[in-house]
Amino acid sequence: MDLLDTLTAKGLRGEVPTREEALAVLATTDDELLDVVAAAGKVRRRWFGRRVKLNYLVNLKSGLCPEDCSYCSQRLGSKAEILKYTWLKPDQAADAARAGVAGGAKRVCLVASGRGPTDRDIDRVTDTMAAIKDADPEVEICVCLGLLSDNQAERLKAAGADAYNHNLNTSENTYGAITKTHTYADRVDTVQKAHGAGLSACSGLIAGMGETDEDLVDVVFALRELGSDSVPVNFLIPFEGTPLAKEWNLTPQRCLRILAMVRFVNPDTEVRIAGGREVHLRTMQPLGLHIANSIFLGDYLTSEGQAGQTDLDMIKDAGFEVEGAGEATLPRHRADVAAAAATGSGCGTAASACGSGGGCGPCGGHEHAPLAGSASAPAPASEGADGANSANGELRDDLVKVRRRGAGTELAPNA
Ligand code: SF4
Repeated sequence: MDLLDTLTAKGLRGEVPTREEALAVLATTDDELLDVVAAAGKVRRRWFGRRVKLNYLVNLKSGLCPEDCSYCSQRLGSKAEILKYTWLKPDQAADAARAGVAGGAKRVCLVASGRGPTDRDIDRVTDTMAAIKDADPEVEICVCLGLLSDNQAERLKAAGADAYNHNLNTSENTYGAITKTHTYADRVDTVQKAHGAGLSACSGLIAGMGETDEDLVDVVFALRELGSDSVPVNFLIPFEGTPLAKEWNLTPQRCLRILAMVRFVNPDTEVRIAGGREVHLRTMQPLGLHIANSIFLGDYLTSEGQAGQTDLDMIKDAGFEVEGAGEATLPRHRADVAAAAATGSGCGTAASACGSGGGCGPCGGHEHAPLAGSASAPAPASEGADGANSANGELRDDLVKVRRRGAGTELAPNA
């Protein structure tokens, strides 16, 4: 297949495909799917070998957010029966982080719901990072606190944060249909603030919100332009009690095509399978490892993942290995670019990094189409024959399990 030969050759050279080639990946058929995975797998192994980076989420503050991101169980007005609690104490957060690290996680992701942190919140997170690094100085810490004000990124960097997560989530065109309380430009600004302060940028997307193929390609190219060092790919978890509860637009095959497209556009960048992995890839998760080089271990912010040991077994059974603390995640040339950006010595066209992710990420409809799930919403262009809704109308809400253990509870974390 000429398309895949071309994409493989470009990916092995670290080159980015054209927009048309990225769209063509999303349009491949089920008969071509294993060829698509194999081609993306060659690119993945070129830059990341068989390593899988494990990341562990600690939700420092859950629910009660004043923002209205339609996809989010913690949003304003959410009826989702999630855990709700205010800031964990540093020792509580450190205990949760320790469990993740003991389970093999190399990076701990400290997330808090909310529009953005106050300066007092930065103090709290500073104390929490100190408690975690006291126990394990080598652990990477990524912070996700929402929109940053001036000088907050610098304070986090000085306090020991390695990365900041803030997802773009969807295309600029569709952002306003998902979230009204902040803008796409606000998100880009925070990614740039984080990167400008020398924090590694983690920024990704959410698929399955009713977006078109063009929207997906738009946001993935935008992430590449921003210079995100890691790209979390979330698959919408349609929580009961949120506006997107009925949005079951994804199949395992569709998810694999999306992951492959993200990999081809970001051949030498960390691509992480994030929320929704178990819900949407299901028994096809191991194939996702052939494309992505990073996953979350155990549970997510407000929903449960599969058992941490099952994650480890899956990695081993598929012939991959957990990336160690002493191993570099990014290829040398990408790490050099990130370091140059952090020291202000320039990184070419990637004027600033981007990336956040965490629990926040917009989702939603296209500006020309009402949010999927609303009475007048047309079928998303990307849904096609492999969309769960159009194919069989199946709502798999049985697969969404609210997190009831770990941070904010008396029960042991899943790691
Ligand atoms: S994604 Fe973040 S900002 Fe948006 S509602 Fe959820 S917690 Fe709040």
